[in-house]
Amino acid sequence: MNILILGGTAEARALALELDGRGHLFESSLAGRVARPRLPVGPVRIGGFGGVEGLNDYIAARQVHAIVDATHPFALTMSRHAVQAAQQSGIDLLRLERPGWSGRPGADGWWWVDNHGQAATVTAAASNRPFLTVGRQALDQFTGPLATAAALVRVVDEPEIDLPSNWTVLTSRGPYSYASERALILNHGADAIVTKDSGGDFTWSKIAIADELGIPVVMVRRAPYPAAATTVNSVSDAIDWVEARSVRSTPARHR
Ligand code: NAP
Repeated sequence: MNILILGGTAEARALALELDGRGHLFESSLAGRVARPRLPVGPVRIGGFGGVEGLNDYIAARQVHAIVDATHPFALTMSRHAVQAAQQSGIDLLRLERPGWSGRPGADGWWWVDNHGQAATVTAAASNRPFLTVGRQALDQFTGPLATAAALVRVVDEPEIDLPSNWTVLTSRGPYSYASERALILNHGADAIVTKDSGGDFTWSKIAIADELGIPVVMVRRAPYPAAATTVNSVSDAIDWVEARSVRSTPARHR
């Protein structure tokens, strides 16, 4: 195994599929954050490495010679560790990151904030019936400011913390269609959509609908990648980068 894909995203799965088909040696890594993860094609390991030191050990033990960090744009700790471990182990690192939504139509009118705490404050001041799609791990920052709001919360797995009694929790996983998102937003009577700049099309519908209905969008801005790194925005560009570094096994069709 020579290429380590840090995954948990659709891009990481698409990259694994393509590399497997081309016979490259790689392994995907998932944090193990969700109960039933969507597994990529090919070899997969699940669970934290144990910080930078653990990742360095893994790199040495598995003779990893390049990392593709295809984690979610908000998985900053893992990205920071990848940068440090790549430097310390003297191996190449590529960042594969889907473009954010800041260039999309309507973006100038959204309420951009720097973190979830600010998002909670801004939302509490303007909304009684917000629709929160910020991920399970950020919810603790909203429970206080939005304690009396009738929030609709969508998460992949049930939250592990106690939520205000008048919040409604919906467990599901995208992609979401335009029609189903529109019905959900209208049925709840959402007066604000709170989300983060994840980018991509899987979860875009709700924002387009909010803009169309004149519902405010509170958008948590991405933090910059923790270090200067070679960055690509598409799986095909990531494949070009890997092809220059990877050791091929027998092509998949002959295995
Ligand atoms: P994080 O805060 O950056 O990472 C926390 C710790 O989880 C890391 O220090 C690492 O533990 C472990 N970890 C994270 N990603 C890992 C991976 N791909 N393989 C092995 N260990 C990993 O990350 P997070 O926000 O909890 O996100 C976890 C995963 O979910 C990521 O892979 C990300 O792509 C995916 N995801 C995140 C979001 C989001 O909004 N944050 C949204 C969708 C998907 P050790 O220090 O022990 O190595």
